[in-house]
Amino acid sequence: MDASGQYVIPGGIDPHTHLDMPFGGTSSSDDFETGTRAAAFGGTTCIVDFAIQPSQGSLRQGLDQWHQKAEGKACIDYGFHMIVREVTPSSLGEMDRLARVDGVPSFKLFTAYPGVFMVDDASIFRAMQRTGENGGLICMHAENGPVIDVLVEQALAAGNTSPRYHALTRPVRLEAEATNRVIAFAEVARVPVYIVHLSAKEALWEVRQARDRGVSAMAETCPQYLFLSYENYEEPGFEGAKYVMSPPLRAKGNEDALWAGLKQDHLALVSTDHCPFCLKEQKELGKASFAKIPNGAPGIEQRMSLLWDGGVRTGRIDINRYVEITSTAAAKIFGLYPRKGTIAPGSDADLVVFDPRREIRWSAKTHHMRVDYNPYEGRVTRGAPTHVFSRGALIVEGDQWRGKTGHGRFIKRGSIATGS
Ligand SMILES: [Zn+2]
Repeated sequence: MDASGQYVIPGGIDPHTHLDMPFGGTSSSDDFETGTRAAAFGGTTCIVDFAIQPSQGSLRQGLDQWHQKAEGKACIDYGFHMIVREVTPSSLGEMDRLARVDGVPSFKLFTAYPGVFMVDDASIFRAMQRTGENGGLICMHAENGPVIDVLVEQALAAGNTSPRYHALTRPVRLEAEATNRVIAFAEVARVPVYIVHLSAKEALWEVRQARDRGVSAMAETCPQYLFLSYENYEEPGFEGAKYVMSPPLRAKGNEDALWAGLKQDHLALVSTDHCPFCLKEQKELGKASFAKIPNGAPGIEQRMSLLWDGGVRTGRIDINRYVEITSTAAAKIFGLYPRKGTIAPGSDADLVVFDPRREIRWSAKTHHMRVDYNPYEGRVTRGAPTHVFSRGALIVEGDQWRGKTGHGRFIKRGSIATGS
């Protein structure tokens, strides 16, 4: 095909998605079919989604459930991380098997969401030690959940129920504190640690200090922390609920520190934390209390265009760094390289033909995600894919879907790179 005037780049890799995920009394609105198709339209050809250990269940059961959700539905290739909710001798044993046999060598633990996902410090440390031995990687959601819960309780008691209080009860210090804490554990346990969805410059500072000491600490951020801010919570009525996610959007100006972190590799890459809930009926569960709004927002489709428009076009990053933070770094960190994340003989032909002049006006009316709002409604970005290939097969051509439901395959991931 003729790609003159365009760039041919490795397909995007989004290592943080939540498709078909039960949460907050409902389920994320994109499943593996609609979510991966939307990803492909945006130039992403591989995702790593989070399987969840069921409460009182085994890691195996969680992994089997996620295989069922994805198989026959996914339109692009996918891998899984495993969310560990209970650290017991038996789940520790299962972690070895997942890392060594099942191609799932990354485990996510939470210091947030007490009673749902949170595990205590001792459990985090045990899981880290085990992972240090089995060659895997620990991913951490770092916010101090118990302290946040006190602030939430106090806000509600004072009658402060609107969406903005979601942000006001999750101050940056509590993200920085948890980031510092889990990095310290990882340092003692001698395991690489990867901070997911880092949102605040105070947390970035903790990562940077650790990296300067030579610790294998890495972090990702997400487009919402680069392109949106606390001010979005002050939109009229219940509109602020669109942006209820954890960590929350931060004060304007914070994004400059994140861009600097991306430029200097204190931040390794940009994922989406795509976790969509419709405003109607889903986000509305929290009309009377921000604490009941399902946490999460859609992002899987617009990541590549937002980062080109806001990163490359503005001169904040160059085109090579763009490819690194949208694809190559994720492939290397999560054990997909060199099958994914590069254009080379022997690698999968996951390719994007990217037109730096193509404009998209983002709108819920035209996006491909199964959700009734777009956080960037009305925003125009310049730079978008025109052709997307998955393992050599054309799956997107302009606005046309050429792919097949179920084309996506599970990718067994190998050992984790720690040097990034
Ligand atoms: Zn997430």
